[in-house]
Amino acid sequence: MTKRKKAIDPAVRVEELREQIRRHEHAYYVLDQPEVSDAAYDALFLELRRIEDERPDLLTTDSPTQRVSGEASDQFAKVRHRSPMLSLQNAFDEAEIRGFDKRVHAAVGDKVVYCAELKIDGLAISLTYAKGRLQRAATRGDGTTGEDVTANVRTIRSVPLAVTPAKGLPDLFEVRGEVYFPIAGFERLNREMDAAGKPRFVNPRNTAAGSVRQIDPNVTASRDLQTFMYMLDPAGPSKSQWDVLNALESMGFRVNKNRRRLDTIDEVIEYHAEWQRRRHELPYEIDGMVVKVNGFAQQLELGFVARSPRWAIAFKYAPEQAETVVEEIACYVGRTGVLTPVAHVKPVVVGGVTIRNVTMHNEAQVNEKGVYVGARVTIHRAGDVIPEIVSVKKPKPGWKMPTNCPVCGGDVVREEPYIAHRCINPFCGAQRLERLRHYAAVVDIEGLGYATLTQLIDRGAIEDPSDLYRLSKDQLVELDGFADKSAQNLLDRIAASSRPELGHFLYALGIPQVGEATATMLAADFGTIQQLQSATEEDLRRVEGVGPSMAREVHMYFQGPGATLVKKLLAAGVEPSEAEVFSDGPFTGKTFVFTGTLETMSRPDAEAMVRKLGGKAAGSVSAKTDYVVAGPGAGSKLEKAQKLKLNVLDEDQFKALLPK
Ligand code: NAD
Repeated sequence: MTKRKKAIDPAVRVEELREQIRRHEHAYYVLDQPEVSDAAYDALFLELRRIEDERPDLLTTDSPTQRVSGEASDQFAKVRHRSPMLSLQNAFDEAEIRGFDKRVHAAVGDKVVYCAELKIDGLAISLTYAKGRLQRAATRGDGTTGEDVTANVRTIRSVPLAVTPAKGLPDLFEVRGEVYFPIAGFERLNREMDAAGKPRFVNPRNTAAGSVRQIDPNVTASRDLQTFMYMLDPAGPSKSQWDVLNALESMGFRVNKNRRRLDTIDEVIEYHAEWQRRRHELPYEIDGMVVKVNGFAQQLELGFVARSPRWAIAFKYAPEQAETVVEEIACYVGRTGVLTPVAHVKPVVVGGVTIRNVTMHNEAQVNEKGVYVGARVTIHRAGDVIPEIVSVKKPKPGWKMPTNCPVCGGDVVREEPYIAHRCINPFCGAQRLERLRHYAAVVDIEGLGYATLTQLIDRGAIEDPSDLYRLSKDQLVELDGFADKSAQNLLDRIAASSRPELGHFLYALGIPQVGEATATMLAADFGTIQQLQSATEEDLRRVEGVGPSMAREVHMYFQGPGATLVKKLLAAGVEPSEAEVFSDGPFTGKTFVFTGTLETMSRPDAEAMVRKLGGKAAGSVSAKTDYVVAGPGAGSKLEKAQKLKLNVLDEDQFKALLPK
């Protein structure tokens, strides 16, 4: 008889899950120090709910799925809520939100309007007003009993201490909403912690909760907390959630402007997706959207389940943090020989994308974070932002860069004052490959990727970009993946790349320190490659965005390896087009820097427009900048512009400068 694997007994598993969930809830709600990511907690919760759905006989009234999580700490006086402060059901994807919509329609019929609001990632707060004065502020606690945090909440500036009650409200009413930590204030607090040599706070949500639950209100006052309110009880003459939000606003409460009434679930899904894209423009964190049936009559009909209303749901965004384990720290060699440490991690989904590798900048950064092989790490990935390791469970410094290049075995050195380690072998294969790949990508030779380049290098067919222009069809058809037609196509694309714009050409050369924006500026200033080659360090320093160290590098490059490469490229028939130097447009002599998101045009289009009108578009802000055009999400460039008292324009003001 074959031995069967023993299945886990669901009765045992539910107990295990409940035990773990309770422990995590205590760490999260009471200590404000979660031990696992929200995604890990949510997975346990979901597993428990699924078992209980399948096996109703295992359901107990004290299960975490049946009650609002959290508890009131003994540090504060306890407050019994007038009506329970509930949690929300969650939807993690489109199918789940459609399921919610179906349940709603089945219960109340065809005509439903939804009120969609951002789900602010903070902590719930209840404010009780008596005769227009703030009488008491309380946390949610276990939903029935919360903590009296009145003294602390009184220090939050957006909480009105006195209000004129809206018409029709009784003497005693309650307002509920969210207290949160704005991102800028949170970052400032962490900078202060760094300066004082104290440990950093992990995230704005738990720090907000900790700040509201301080024994000393002065500490709360120093934290710059903010609020958004969304509930009024009793609602007075308001007939819907939408009316309540407007009534709260007119009484002087802070209410989030990003809200919408929507008629169909498709519109809800679209609005949710819009804020998923735009969430990083907001100065605070959100973790989803709360979708509520708008009309109170319908809300009443729908009622409640154990821990949440049936008329509302939290439509969550993919978590942007997850935990995993570092399996290896490898080093990649870039085109300038710089070694970049990369942590290969056990694959994990963060922000909806599977992450396998996380790049760190250099040895110092690996050790500052204390990353090592086997470390348990938390990874953050937000929007299009590159994933990063934000924290390490038991950090251990001491990781060392290899002393020899992992590709060519050459010496690896760190040249002061740079932090980076470099392979100094000029013939290093990794550098050659990266330089060729960079050239091909910048001059737009589609289809010339790593695999083809590696084969060509291995066969001795190419060493530097000039060799590309001498390749023959015979050489290409010999390569894996090539036939007559594909070889000809590649040759045609190579030939088409021989008239690059000067700016592209300069960037493609891979001059140390010269990025795309600087290359464009150099092209616009000097007009031809010959002019640039004969420029002195002094000439170079006059260019916007070029500092002394870059001027030295560019000058040295054209005296040394660059002179040879340019000569070979020109001899192979490459002819960079002369850059159009506009001498008399409305923006002549003016330098613009764009930062943040533009709403009606792309950044490259806006920059091209500036150049067309005779101006320059630079990548960084300096005293030489004339205008900074800042859109939502603008960060350090805007701060610098304000410090330098430069002209800062929004998108509309910029557009007003354009000729009609
Ligand atoms: P929830 O945060 O998912 O949703 C309910 C809350 O949303 C309300 O109490 C309210 O405070 C808030 N909210 C924000 N904006 C709102 C709006 N416009 N309208 C209505 N409500 C709004 O539910 P929960 O029970 O408070 O907490 C569960 C969350 O806490 C999950 O994200 C979970 O991952 C996390 N958690 C994590 C751990 C951990 O160990 N990492 C432990 C426990 C809970």
